[in-house]
Amino acid sequence: MRAFCTSCWAEVDAAQSICPVCGFDIRSDPRSYDDKIASALRHPLPETRARVCELAGRRRMRTAVPILIERTTDPDTYVRVAALDALGEIGDLRALGPVERNCRDRSLLVREAALRARSRLSAIASVGSPG
Ligand SMILES: [Zn+2]
Repeated sequence: MRAFCTSCWAEVDAAQSICPVCGFDIRSDPRSYDDKIASALRHPLPETRARVCELAGRRRMRTAVPILIERTTDPDTYVRVAALDALGEIGDLRALGPVERNCRDRSLLVREAALRARSRLSAIASVGSPG
């Protein structure tokens, strides 16, 4: 099973309690997984921010939406792409405005991600919110 070290966000085996990459005692961290993801979205390393955006999207974490919106202005292109894809996947309409702004991003990759997210969000907007 896939699991992540909540200190360095390396992928680890779910059975491991000590991260083989950074030595962190994964089970000693008392925060909830969602709290850890929320704080890791502000991690100093862009690769980590991007990876955690992706995780938040896969878990459809609505609680992460405000921070994901913040990440749509991240200085790193790949973080912006990952944040936009996550917002499209979560499908929270609060993201529509920020996604719209990213449709004019200077990076083609970001514009493409923004267009993907916008089409998913507008599909949701036209049928009403699922939750
Ligand atoms: Zn680690």
